[in-house]
Amino acid sequence: MQNTFTVTLVEATLLTPKVRHLKLKCHDGQPLEFTPGQFVSFHFPVEGAKEIRRSYSLASIPGQSSHIELALGYVKGGIASEALFSAKPGDQFTMSGPYGRLILRDEKPQRYIMVATSTGVTPYRSMLPALAARLNDIKVVIMLGVQTRGDALYNEDFLAYVNQYPNLDFRLCYSRESDKEQLQPFEHLGYVQDQFALLNPSPDNDIVYLCGNPNMIDAAYEILKEKGFSAQQVRREKYVS
Ligand SMILES: Cc1cc2nc3c(=O)[nH]c(=O)nc-3n(C[C@H](O)[C@H](O)[C@H](O)COP(=O)(O)OP(=O)(O)OC[C@H]3O[C@@H](n4cnc5c(N)ncnc54)[C@H](O)[C@@H]3O)c2cc1C
Repeated sequence: MQNTFTVTLVEATLLTPKVRHLKLKCHDGQPLEFTPGQFVSFHFPVEGAKEIRRSYSLASIPGQSSHIELALGYVKGGIASEALFSAKPGDQFTMSGPYGRLILRDEKPQRYIMVATSTGVTPYRSMLPALAARLNDIKVVIMLGVQTRGDALYNEDFLAYVNQYPNLDFRLCYSRESDKEQLQPFEHLGYVQDQFALLNPSPDNDIVYLCGNPNMIDAAYEILKEKGFSAQQVRREKYVS
């Protein structure tokens, strides 16, 4: 049965000029129970028509936040974008969930490769404590693709874990920067899926997660299929309306 509930916006901040981080709380005061990697849906009423729903991955880091945290990328003229970018603390919304199967499973690959574009990195942010619990036994590479340095989000959260866990590698890739001199060790030029050429992914060792822009996901999946990956070894979540 669908879990529908009312949420109140507690805080909204800009992570980048085009991405808003929202903190919401449930009306009953209880934290939302979810598995990292899942998403929630907003329900927007439309007069005389069927309500409109839009989905957002949960960015909340368990143990660090009891709020529903989301990262919302702005789409000009978009129904949810306009409503949620103009929302103020105290505003209430109808939401349902959690939903989704882009979650960690009970398995032990040699390595997880987790790839995202922009807000598609939110599921991996939420998974950080669960990944950390596995990092003695396996390696994890988290790769985030954005256009420019100013579009990057949640770097500090990933880098804080990298500092603690040698088996965690975080790579930030810029598709529209060109100055090699300015790059820090975790920064790279080019599309995020270009990094596969450096990682030598193998279906014998790796499980891959892909989240965000459908074009990136299709391009990455093609590369992985060529290397012998099956659909079950490449878990995908496309951010489409
Ligand atoms: C499982 C799931 C999880 C998602 N998680 C997130 C998330 O964590 N953060 C997030 O920001 N989004 C996420 N999305 C996408 C989100 O649900 C909406 O599709 C997005 O916010 C646009 O909705 P909108 O109502 O603002 O725009 P709409 O009213 O749906 O679209 C307005 C116009 O913009 C076009 N459009 C829609 N999306 C884009 C885009 N990305 N780029 C360019 N044009 C576009 C549409 O085709 C349409 O012409 C997720 C989607 C899914 C399916």
